Amino acid sequence: MDLPISVRTNLISGQGSLAEAADVADGRVFLVTDPGIVAAGHVARLEALFRAKGTPCQRFDAVTENPDEADVQACVAAFEAAFGDEKPEWIVALGGGSSIDVAKGCSMLVASGGRMRDYIGHKTTRKPQLPVLAIPTTAGTGSEVQSFALITNSDTGRKMACGGEAPAVAILDPDLTRSQPPFVAACAGLDTLAHAVETAVTKARTEASVQYAREACRLVERNFETSLRRPEDVAARSAMLRASAAAGIAIENSMLGAAHSMANPLTRQFGVVHGQAVGQLLPFVVRFNAEDSAAAAAYAELAYDAGVAEHTDPIPVAVNKLIVRLSELVAIAGFERTFANVPASAIEALATEAAEQWTAQFNPRHVDVHAFRALFAQVTA
Ligand SMILES: [Zn+2]
Repeated sequence: MDLPISVRTNLISGQGSLAEAADVADGRVFLVTDPGIVAAGHVARLEALFRAKGTPCQRFDAVTENPDEADVQACVAAFEAAFGDEKPEWIVALGGGSSIDVAKGCSMLVASGGRMRDYIGHKTTRKPQLPVLAIPTTAGTGSEVQSFALITNSDTGRKMACGGEAPAVAILDPDLTRSQPPFVAACAGLDTLAHAVETAVTKARTEASVQYAREACRLVERNFETSLRRPEDVAARSAMLRASAAAGIAIENSMLGAAHSMANPLTRQFGVVHGQAVGQLLPFVVRFNAEDSAAAAAYAELAYDAGVAEHTDPIPVAVNKLIVRLSELVAIAGFERTFANVPASAIEALATEAAEQWTAQFNPRHVDVHAFRALFAQVTA
């Protein structure tokens, strides 16, 4: 069934749009962020906006990378302690995907109770949640437009996609992504690219979600390199934020594929940063999936649309050009040797865990342990 796309988050974008935060979140604000964002000065700017408006604001600024259930519980405890007897009316997330995911998780737990592991899957919370205003400082995970919070199980170390409500509003201000360290910008940009390429071909894709995937792909193709080489270029950074949100909307409707299934065990077992992992896996996964003729046609459309291939190119040529371009973008990010420290002896465990990932079922070509074994052997060769 080709349902119309759901876009649940109101987007406010443009340079200086952070100034609108205090108009959006106009009641007691509970701010969720991390120490790096405090150090970058963004928290002080946002708090000054709330102060100027007379909006009370209290904060939790201890979010860590790849947040787990304990991070969300700590955030919930700070939420419960904020404002005494009165409760916060807005949760504002300022930061990367980790801060936004913790804020969404906090909103889920204060409404419905329990632990994050109780909410694995689609829309499992039952009670209305407090509205979240998401303000990304990286471009990006697309978490600002998604209903899923990615939280690690504190016992097993595995990532869980926990389904609640998407942020009510997201502010996409390129002034905030200027402070991304180059490595973070490169990882986040490749993550967006992987979201765009995977959502364009998944089994769950719809006509509408493919349009968002293609828009994201076009924007990354034209702006990723510039945003890395000239981080002062506001237009390029703005385009990357829009790409991240567009790809996030596509994920909400299309889910993801094998590159994401393979990235999670690499992150958990070897500490490889998510964006770096999915970026480097992508050309291999595209080559594997393109054995399926429908997937190959979808990749070719993506390549024509992004200007990576000529419209006159036959499908196999267009797919090949897409693979070459993806590899180039990985090289531009400086990540060609990401898996050098992964030994051949680890392939079996990696393949087993990849096959258990939720995202594997949406990959356009059937993937099982056997297929993942072969793919991991290729990428670590
Ligand atoms: Zn991702």
